[in-house]
Amino acid sequence: MTGLVLSVQGRPMNILYIMSDDHATNAISAYGSHLTSVFKTPSIDRLAAEGVRMDRTYCVNAICTPSRASVLTGQYGHINGVKTLRDPIPPDAVNVAALLKKGGYQTALIGKWHLKTEPFGFDYWKVGPGQGKYHDPIFIEKGTPYKLTKNLKTTPGYYTDLITDYALEWLKDRPADKPFALFLHHKAPHGKWEPAKRHLNFLENVEIPEPDSLWEDYSHRSEASRDFGTSISHRLADRRNMIDDVTSYKWPTAQLDMTGMTEEQKTKAAYQKYLKDYLRCVKAVDENVGRVLDYLDESGLTENTLVVYTSDQGMFLGEHDYFDKRWIFEEAFRMPFIARLPGQIPAGSSTDALCANIDFAPTLLRAAELPAPDAMQGKSFFNILNTGKQPKNWRESVYYRYWMHLNGHHIPGHFGVRTDRYKLIFYYGLALGATGAVDKQTQAGWELYDLQKDPQEVSNVYKNPEYSDISAKLKIELIRLKEEFGDSDKPYPDLKKVIEESWN
Ligand code: CA
Repeated sequence: MTGLVLSVQGRPMNILYIMSDDHATNAISAYGSHLTSVFKTPSIDRLAAEGVRMDRTYCVNAICTPSRASVLTGQYGHINGVKTLRDPIPPDAVNVAALLKKGGYQTALIGKWHLKTEPFGFDYWKVGPGQGKYHDPIFIEKGTPYKLTKNLKTTPGYYTDLITDYALEWLKDRPADKPFALFLHHKAPHGKWEPAKRHLNFLENVEIPEPDSLWEDYSHRSEASRDFGTSISHRLADRRNMIDDVTSYKWPTAQLDMTGMTEEQKTKAAYQKYLKDYLRCVKAVDENVGRVLDYLDESGLTENTLVVYTSDQGMFLGEHDYFDKRWIFEEAFRMPFIARLPGQIPAGSSTDALCANIDFAPTLLRAAELPAPDAMQGKSFFNILNTGKQPKNWRESVYYRYWMHLNGHHIPGHFGVRTDRYKLIFYYGLALGATGAVDKQTQAGWELYDLQKDPQEVSNVYKNPEYSDISAKLKIELIRLKEEFGDSDKPYPDLKKVIEESWN
């Protein structure tokens, strides 16, 4: 069909929610970073130039599956049941897609789902099961069993391109009498990083600038995180198996040879290798965002479609000598969030209002003029998108919790609070029965960062007497947030004991 698809009888606009996987704000040029001089994302930047860039949007647990569950339900993991990568989301969980569908929207999910339960709340879905594959992936479509079997055929092509093809096909073929809510979820740039063939040589002869905190001296850290900070588990040079494993590549990129290198040289080489493969994967995402924006223009949909670009959480791109996510540190905790709605969202605007992924579902519902159920813990920030102004009583802090103690990348369980200026972290160092967490106690400890003076988080000031009043106030705020969001310590006597011993 051609021409403008009008919203139905006062029904609100269409929604196109694009979410990538592990896309850090530092790898989006609209956000600006040390990488901007060598790498740009023109399509995502276009969205920012025509809409709003949210500068302080955070995930409440910086890991894939729990963040996706929080986006969908508007709830923390201890409420929706998805605290770790291994927890299934209950099929009756409150769900933004189902509520949009009930509210008259045609809903679709295309791409990565990464929740164990069969997708629910969507009129149509086509997903790459689990992590999915970059090259010649497998997809499962609604109407067939949601099960990975040997009978499933691979599709020739590159995941990022293919899901965009599918999204455009769905947009062209969908019933035109209803507004749509399309959730387009990229696998990229999640590791292991396999670029499209056309990007194999992209950035080949470019020296990628290093972040200052690549060379962080961990001595400022608490003992609760210092050992983990310096362990071999997630430093770049020691994780070549993650950075350099090309066994599954269809078109392998150059492998690292670290023979004879000093430790510093190893870190530098691993960083260059990691960043180049990562940014090559982002390059394809950006191109495909551009394809979708072009289609909206060509089909007259731009004016009445809210377009969102975000990621399920951030990612360390060598900051703190890390890759992966999970820690509450900014690069993993902070999410990109860019939104465009011509005529309603001021072009080229930005805001530093504190928002969280639990707010996404209420915000999308508000955009659709549908009520958010009380069960959702987040609040709509649609008015902030529209006006750039924070409503009275808007949140002044974000509560964070990472549950999957020592799993995978050996990061200890912790919770914390971030305000406008400060971040207080408590590493409690216990598994607490969380699925997949390693049942081994590690040292408890506190860290405090003054983000105004120390945005890189390389100077823990928890033991600095000048900050004792600040940390006392933040502890009170932490207790308040735990109560507000119903994250009680009562079921965990071991945790209560650790808190009692470590509180002061
Ligand atoms: Ca992720």
